[in-house]
Amino acid sequence: MGATPCSANVLTDRLLRSWLRCRRRAWLDRYGDEEQRLWTAHRTLQLDDQQRNFVALLPRKPSRGLNACSQGAAGVVGLRLKGLDPAGQPLEAHPPLLQRVDGRSRWGDFAYRPVIARQGRRLTREHRLTLALVGRLLETLQAAPVAEGLAVAGAGRSLHLERVSLVGGLQRQLADALAKLAGDLLLSDPPPLVADRRKCKLCSWRGVCDAVASAEGHLSEVSGIGSRRRQMLQELGILGLQDLAAADPGDLGSRLERFGEQHGEVAHQLVAQARVQRDGRCERLDSSLALPELINAPGVLLYDIESDPDARDDFLHGFVRLSRRLDGSWDLKGAKYHPFLVIYEHGEASCWQRLQRMLNNYPDWPVMHYGETESLNLLRMAQRQGAADVELAALRARLIDVHERVRGHWRLPLNSYGLKSVASWLDFCWQQVGVDGARALLWWRQWRGSGPRDRGCSHSLRWIFQYNHDDCLATWAVAVWLLKQDELLKQDEAGLSNTGT
Ligand code: SF4
Repeated sequence: MGATPCSANVLTDRLLRSWLRCRRRAWLDRYGDEEQRLWTAHRTLQLDDQQRNFVALLPRKPSRGLNACSQGAAGVVGLRLKGLDPAGQPLEAHPPLLQRVDGRSRWGDFAYRPVIARQGRRLTREHRLTLALVGRLLETLQAAPVAEGLAVAGAGRSLHLERVSLVGGLQRQLADALAKLAGDLLLSDPPPLVADRRKCKLCSWRGVCDAVASAEGHLSEVSGIGSRRRQMLQELGILGLQDLAAADPGDLGSRLERFGEQHGEVAHQLVAQARVQRDGRCERLDSSLALPELINAPGVLLYDIESDPDARDDFLHGFVRLSRRLDGSWDLKGAKYHPFLVIYEHGEASCWQRLQRMLNNYPDWPVMHYGETESLNLLRMAQRQGAADVELAALRARLIDVHERVRGHWRLPLNSYGLKSVASWLDFCWQQVGVDGARALLWWRQWRGSGPRDRGCSHSLRWIFQYNHDDCLATWAVAVWLLKQDELLKQDEAGLSNTGT
């Protein structure tokens, strides 16, 4: 960082997108040290999704460049649009696709409109303003108005088209956003961290910003504090983790009640969480065992799902079968991994039958998973496939959410209780470095292609299996820690009763 900000630089559609997600991100895009950027699968997933949507939208491959526009091609890519905003600020955009529509332009009896691929369930301000910027620059190029853009989504199942009006209030919003973006790029230091730090997970600057948050003791570092709570605490003069840890919980609770009774009630938990993080210690929350179901279990099934959230598709159900030796120890070396792929063309019924066989082979074994996704989605699948009430009840009784047990029994010195955070704290190492759910989803899409005749490289599948297998083992690593703590608790209780106290 530290380059001199320069007002003469161009404002691009990419900078605008970054700024709409986080003001700091746009600043770092321009002045940040590229070497500190982390690769994220998110952008590649977006491009992959865009490609599939455009293929579904257009009758044939789009043509490239200005010549294609003058010849009236149905779809055009590879254009760089340039212009000035009303304040004389240079603007630039690379539209992902222009689509020919009825109208009259400098090229003849047709015109173009900008198209974007929408990821996620709804159109956002980012989609609208990016379309508006491209529309504004396209108007000048084609010498014809651009009254609307098009957002496409859902390729693969059913293509969804949404027309977006680019006139009126949206142009005013664009002018306002561009002026603020230009102002932020004049700052000599980056704007503050984004209020809602969940956005950071998908950002390539997360390494730099996580280090800043940690060094500053940023309030977002305290588990349980999102943007709204952070704002309330700041209004009460609590600016960082240290302030929160030093606060009196009763007093803070009364002061937080002015924002609503429920906020007052969580004050005690927030202060306690800040204190364990400040002091680097864990705190037991109650005196019951965290995993009593494992005392007599002959084995456990460790279970993890990989999903495509946009397509609402669980494409992999992975199990690790972990049995118990006669002496009561767990045979981790002999544990076996069983991946169940859900191929869309094969239908859900066939997947459910295979899962049912697996579960029925080990009827007395608890099924352990981390987070509620696995239990919710497995039970929903069983319901859709007509499982009887008694089967559903038995399945429900076997499912153990390790994340819920951690949260219910322990306060940990961590800013997140997610599997990656807790298992890493216990020194568990994933075999593949830097892999996350988004990366696994990318591998899946690369392998799946557009259908059975278009399968990708089998390495992609192996990498997904490895990642999923490791998530199952990470879940076990957390369970082992809980079991150890349960053992210590039993020993303490036995010691107390022996001394008669
Ligand atoms: S990591 Fe978070 S705070 Fe940093 S630039 Fe990205 S979104 Fe903004």
